[in-house]
Amino acid sequence: EFTLPTPMSERIMKLRGPQKLQALKGIDLAIPKGETLALVGESGCGKSSLARVLSGIYEPNSGQILFEGVDVNKASNAARRIMRQKFQMIFQDPYSSLNPRWTIQSIVEEPMILFNLVSGGKKARRARVISLLEQVGLGEGDLAKFPHEFSGGQRQRISIARALASEPEFLICDEPTSALDVSIQAQVLNLMKDLQKQYNLTCLFISHDLSVVSHIADKIGVMYLGEIIEMGTVDDIFTSPSHPYTRMLINAIPGATNLGMELQGVADVAVDGELPNPLNPPSGCNFHPRCAFKLDICDQEEPALVGVGGEAGTDHFAACHLCERYNGRATDQSLQAS
Ligand code: SF4
Ligand code: MG
Repeated sequence: EFTLPTPMSERIMKLRGPQKLQALKGIDLAIPKGETLALVGESGCGKSSLARVLSGIYEPNSGQILFEGVDVNKASNAARRIMRQKFQMIFQDPYSSLNPRWTIQSIVEEPMILFNLVSGGKKARRARVISLLEQVGLGEGDLAKFPHEFSGGQRQRISIARALASEPEFLICDEPTSALDVSIQAQVLNLMKDLQKQYNLTCLFISHDLSVVSHIADKIGVMYLGEIIEMGTVDDIFTSPSHPYTRMLINAIPGATNLGMELQGVADVAVDGELPNPLNPPSGCNFHPRCAFKLDICDQEEPALVGVGGEAGTDHFAACHLCERYNGRATDQSLQAS
């Protein structure tokens, strides 16, 4: 669980006292080593807050974050230092995370110095910087350049090289390609996917775009107002989306109905309405004001996250009364019957 103080004027603050926003609630997830979990949802759903909690920028109010069995927020200084090296973040806007006054060489070299990762001095570090730049499609000729001399896609390649320079194990990518042109997006995504495989990186990939994560993720968690409302493999999510919100997101992908997905009966569910005010979340199911399948119980009782795979041992979950009612899965038939 994680609450954020909300931005408000001092006058209102004096009147009402500090107001707290519950940014995350009941999040329970594990990412096996070498796998990619993608979190998807509209902006404001809490996915960036979760990334910041996981990376140690924010501390959760309750709950634990374990890395290789160690509680991140209770770790010793020495352990924290190792985690700072092993956890790396890649942000949407690489320009703000690359120092504009530093050369590319200094930018990529810094983690090696900070964490004392390369033996053999300056010459060895320079060779390592060149090798990393080559891995992301740049080269020796770029060493002396500054960030402003590169395109958005190239800058994201530089921040990937810098992240790799730390020899990370866990990569948190917050909308890493959403500021880029579509054609460049695919190139950077492919590069990230190749490097993730090559280095066996564990990865949390955050995006508002379900079609982007389908290329890179092993599992997908769909978030809505600070909660995970559906979780499953990419196949689960795309071939049997169970939560009406997930179906809505899939329907919003251009051409989704041509991808051979079982979406009959939900083609009329468009992305409709806006994310409610998180300071005043709806009663019962958070999604009910926007849901085309709302039942009487939906504004009364909060649905629990239940297994929807139909068989035991599945790890496909959704939080929706329909899924509970219809034997674990909201099929097209059950949705039409409701
Ligand atoms: Fe819709 Fe009810 Fe399911 Fe919420 S619980 S998504 S309102 S059917
Ligand atoms: Mg965000």
